[in-house]
Amino acid sequence: MKSVFLCSLSLFTCFAIKAQYPSKTENIFIITTDGFRWQEIFNGADSALISNPKFVEDTSLIRQLYWDSDLEIRRRKLMPFFWNVIAEKGQLYGNREFGNKVNVKNFYKISYPGYNEIFTGYTDPSIIINLPRNNKNTNILEYLNNTNEYRGKVAAFSSWNLFPYIFNKERRTFPLNSGYNALPNEDADTSLQIINKIQQNVPHKSNTRYDWLTYFTAREYVEKYRPRIVFIGLGETDELAHKGRYDLYLQQAAAIDKMIGDLWYYTQAHPFYKNKTTFIITTDHGRGNTVSSWVTHSFLTRGSGETWLAMMGSGITPLGEVKTVQQTYQKQLAATIAILAGHNFVSPNKTGKPITLPEIPFIAELSKDQHIVAK
Ligand SMILES: [Zn+2]
Repeated sequence: MKSVFLCSLSLFTCFAIKAQYPSKTENIFIITTDGFRWQEIFNGADSALISNPKFVEDTSLIRQLYWDSDLEIRRRKLMPFFWNVIAEKGQLYGNREFGNKVNVKNFYKISYPGYNEIFTGYTDPSIIINLPRNNKNTNILEYLNNTNEYRGKVAAFSSWNLFPYIFNKERRTFPLNSGYNALPNEDADTSLQIINKIQQNVPHKSNTRYDWLTYFTAREYVEKYRPRIVFIGLGETDELAHKGRYDLYLQQAAAIDKMIGDLWYYTQAHPFYKNKTTFIITTDHGRGNTVSSWVTHSFLTRGSGETWLAMMGSGITPLGEVKTVQQTYQKQLAATIAILAGHNFVSPNKTGKPITLPEIPFIAELSKDQHIVAK
C-alpha cells in the first residue's frame, strides 16, 4: 500500500500519498453559512442590535427568543447545538476575546474570493467580484473526486447560484445542486419530488435558494447515495444581513444550528457514517463590527475579514472553545480537509498549510512535503 500516485489537472499538479498518511476519517461534511459573524457565534445576540427597531421589527419577541444578560446562556439560546454539542465534542476557533483569530487571507472579503480561498487554499487576486466566471483554480472537491478512494463519492449543494462557476462548470465532474435547480428526475424519489415541486413553486425567488430547501435536498441525497465528501453551502444569513434584518438574521442562524444538529444526529445514527465522519463548519467572510456597518462587508468595512471555524468528529480532539492566542486563515482549510481524508493537497499557488491538529502527528511532515512538491 505504498502507492504514490500523481494526477494532473489543468494548471495543477497534485500528489496523493497513500498509506503513509492514513486518513483520520472516512467521511467529511463541509458546511458554510454565508457572511455570518464570529460575534454572534461566541457572544450570541448583539446587545447593540437586538433592541434597535431599525433592525428588529418585534424587539420584545426577539429578545424573548435570544436575549439573556448572561453570555453563556445567551449564546446557547441562539445556537444550542454549537454550545451544547460542538463545544463539548469538537473545536471552536475564532473568539477574538481570547486572541484566537480566524481571518480570510484574500483582500476583497466578499463571497467568491472567500469560497475560492476555502476550497482551493489559494487567494487569487484576479477574483475580485462575484461574477459568473469559471474559476480556473483547482478545488479540494474535484481533487478528491479525482482520487481512486473518493471518485464518485463527492457531492455539493448550495443556496447561492454562483457555485457552478466557483467550482468551474466546464471542468466539474462531481454533482452540484445549486440555486433553484431541481435534482434530475432519475434522482427524484418521493421526497425529492416534493422538494423539487416546492422549489418550482416557491414565491419571492432570488439568486439564493431558501436554505431549508438546500438542506433537505442535501439530506435526502445523503440518505439515498451516501456520499463521503459533502459540501452544503447555506446563504440566507448574508442575504438577511444585507437587508438590515437583524431579527431574521438571528432566526436564520438558529435554523442553521438546527440543520447542522439534525445532520449530525443523522450521521451518528447511521452505521455508514457513525464514528467515522467529520464536520467542518465555517463562513466565507465576516461583516462590519459596528451598529451602522454590520449590514455590509468589503475590504473597506472593518471586521469583514474576521471569521470563525468549528470542527467535530473523527480526527478532531474535543478541545471545545479554543482560548489560546492563535491565528488561523481560511486558506488553510483545503489542505486540512485533504489531510483528514488522508491526502496531501498541494498546488503551485502557495496553498495554505493544514491547521495543526494535535491528533494528526504527521502534519509537520506533510507541511514539509508541500514545499518540496509545490513548484
Ligand atoms: Zn454579502
